[in-house]
Amino acid sequence: MPMDIPQYTAEDAPVPEGTIVIERASTAQDLGPKLNRTAADVVRFMLTNGEMVTATQSLSDDMIELFAAEVSAEIRLVDPGEEQEVELRKVLEFPDEDDEEIVASWPHRPPVITVMGHVDHGKTLLLDRIRSANVVSGEAGGITQHIGAYQATTDDGAVLTFLDTPGHEAFTAMRARGADATDVVVLVVAADDGVMPQTVEALDHAKAADVPIIVAINKMDREGADSERVMGELAERGLVPEQWGGDAIMVPLSAMTGDGLPDLLENLAVVAELEDLRATPKGRAAGVVLESFLDTGRGPVSTVLVERGTLAVGDPLVTGAAWGRVRALIDDKGNQVKKAGPSVPVQVLGLSDVASAGDSFVVAPSEKVAAKVASTREHWQRLASLGRDASATSGGAKLEDIFDQIQRGETATLNLIVKADVNGSLEAVTDSLRKLERDDVKLAFVSRGVGGITENDVLLASTSNATILGFNVRPDRKARELADQEAVEIRNYEIIYKLLEDIENAMLGLLAPEFEEVVTGEAEVREIFRVPRQGAIAGCMVLNGTITRNSKVRFLREGTIIWRGSIQSLRHFKEDVREVRAGFECGIGLSDFQDLKAGDIIETFEEREIPRS
Ligand code: GDP
Repeated sequence: MPMDIPQYTAEDAPVPEGTIVIERASTAQDLGPKLNRTAADVVRFMLTNGEMVTATQSLSDDMIELFAAEVSAEIRLVDPGEEQEVELRKVLEFPDEDDEEIVASWPHRPPVITVMGHVDHGKTLLLDRIRSANVVSGEAGGITQHIGAYQATTDDGAVLTFLDTPGHEAFTAMRARGADATDVVVLVVAADDGVMPQTVEALDHAKAADVPIIVAINKMDREGADSERVMGELAERGLVPEQWGGDAIMVPLSAMTGDGLPDLLENLAVVAELEDLRATPKGRAAGVVLESFLDTGRGPVSTVLVERGTLAVGDPLVTGAAWGRVRALIDDKGNQVKKAGPSVPVQVLGLSDVASAGDSFVVAPSEKVAAKVASTREHWQRLASLGRDASATSGGAKLEDIFDQIQRGETATLNLIVKADVNGSLEAVTDSLRKLERDDVKLAFVSRGVGGITENDVLLASTSNATILGFNVRPDRKARELADQEAVEIRNYEIIYKLLEDIENAMLGLLAPEFEEVVTGEAEVREIFRVPRQGAIAGCMVLNGTITRNSKVRFLREGTIIWRGSIQSLRHFKEDVREVRAGFECGIGLSDFQDLKAGDIIETFEEREIPRS
């Protein structure tokens, strides 16, 4: 370090008066001029405080505040883009929603319903029953699609929208992100089991959201079913049934036999009417993203719930940093539709990126505005993640070294890059990981994303000293090679608790020997043949290594694991063979997985223990 650092002179120029807004992760170049100082002033100050930064490097919150204090400036730190977001929102918002008179003139819309309750009390079966009772046989599409939500109609013709992810985790995660999509909660309680811990939790969540609750007392067909007992237990928690003079609606039913289902639906319709839910079907659509994933053939696919306006094919839609002209809309019956109005869930094709579940979406006034909003947001997101990088890289540690750091009494930061198959699991993994944080071990998410592990991820891990965690995804071959070269650790998991256990153990210095899955062969699917009685045979070209019969396999579509199991039969031309080497064609017989497509990769692997140094 140079010894003759010029002295910093804070008293030279007056700082601007009042509170100055500074974006997080600002550089010396951004920060200096805002406080009437030069970038060099900032850099010098940092140097005297033992921080080596360049003028274009992001500064941590602490560093920014330290400098502001030094020059006696009053500042307010904001997330990158926060101020611009406010500006942009003005272009995108709907002022009519605040005008009660206008809202009262709008037509009613179907209620949006979430089903919650204790595990095994029948949420999934109930949702399935309501759905299938509503599919008229012979209807186009026939089989209903699981798109994340669906609509059902009561005998009286009232339409109800059900969110298809049961449980309160998703419900609360959505609320945490400001998406209060749910109008009514159905609390499922098994009549033979009564109020259980998650029943109480669900009840608390519904109460916190201040939405009406209807109780479905399920499994009434079961021996030992006792609806009176359930009512008693709920009454103790402040939910007094109508049957006893209270105001909580409780419907005894059986999701198994279907008894009582119409009664539940009628009650939902009545509650919805009392709620007086209205939305305009006119104008630009807005709503919330329920689900999204990357489909090989179709690109990013998102299910959205329209909350106002009408979403139509061709609309320029923007959500988070993703945008696109709507290429196609697919309803819950699998039909292509031209438009979707309030409370209607639809799958949207045509977005540039995988949207985040729980994010709101809006149709922009023009394609130009949509593109602008998305690119501005992307810019901030990048800035924000750079900001994280900056703090992550200083003093971050790898999984293997984390315990050493903790022992030395240092606050250790574990730098992570997390990749997962879908948004839902990405959120779940991150949320659970965050819960592992302790005072002496912090986690820094250098980057999080949906999709396979790529060379880019490895590069980022290498520059930020991060460990890559893959959940239901795999690195491609190039990423694997680069990781070897750069000594970047990639850990792959398919079970969330295994992942958490490993990280927790690493924090305790107990990292178990790692079994590395060594990829032994890689074949690309070229064509699928259907063979009577045998099912599907994948005609493949072996790209690398050797494909051996009976070895363990996984199928990958764009780096995401879509199936795992073992090879049933292996043929080279008409011959049954034991192995096929790179450069040769082969036919791979699959037991129960039939849904392969050309372009998918079949990967065989072995498990070997990695010796720890
Ligand atoms: P979830 O965990 O709340 O989604 O519960 P599921 O819908 O998966 O149901 C758990 C088990 O209870 C399954 O085996 C269902 O078949 C069964 N089940 C659900 N509803 C009923 C019902 O009304 N009667 C009976 N007899 N079984 C039911």
